[in-house]
Amino acid sequence: MSDTSPLSEIRRLYAQHGAGMYAGELVTQLEHALQAAHFAEQAGESSSLVAAALLHDIGHLTHSFDENCAEQGIDDEHEATGAEWLHEAGFNPEVTEPIRLHVPAKRYLCAVDSAYFEQLSAASRLSLKLQGGPLDDSSVERFRSNPFFEAAVRLRGYDEQAKQVGLKTPPLSHFIEVAASVLS
Ligand code: FE
Repeated sequence: MSDTSPLSEIRRLYAQHGAGMYAGELVTQLEHALQAAHFAEQAGESSSLVAAALLHDIGHLTHSFDENCAEQGIDDEHEATGAEWLHEAGFNPEVTEPIRLHVPAKRYLCAVDSAYFEQLSAASRLSLKLQGGPLDDSSVERFRSNPFFEAAVRLRGYDEQAKQVGLKTPPLSHFIEVAASVLS
């Protein structure tokens, strides 16, 4: 019987799609995931947030859109599909909700911090447009009242940092173990 546990499925997704480029950047999907998890771990985050950082873009790997779909004007809504996929796989809200919110977190940061917008990569600016642009005032307030608001903003920071060519990180197996430790 083939192993269909969520962790094997995650390993399979990265084996199959991890070498694909992270759209518009100079790192692969796997490098991006490992770097985000690495920065979260270095910052002393909980195992749940380290797992969230590893898996925040899994929605890019589970959908069937072209990797450059943003250039075609398509928002793949990977934050929602990824969070749903992980919820069904048994991950708790400490993992799924910061992931679901990592795009709203970008829209939030663009609304409250103009310097943040300025440092976004070209690809990230393009996807921002497709994702609805900066949040308006009432959405900013609503976002701040979400219990996972702060974790989502921190995750967003690790996401932004995780685009460095050639950065050394621990291997996928290390972070899969972290994910295993928080899987209910
Ligand atoms: Fe990302």
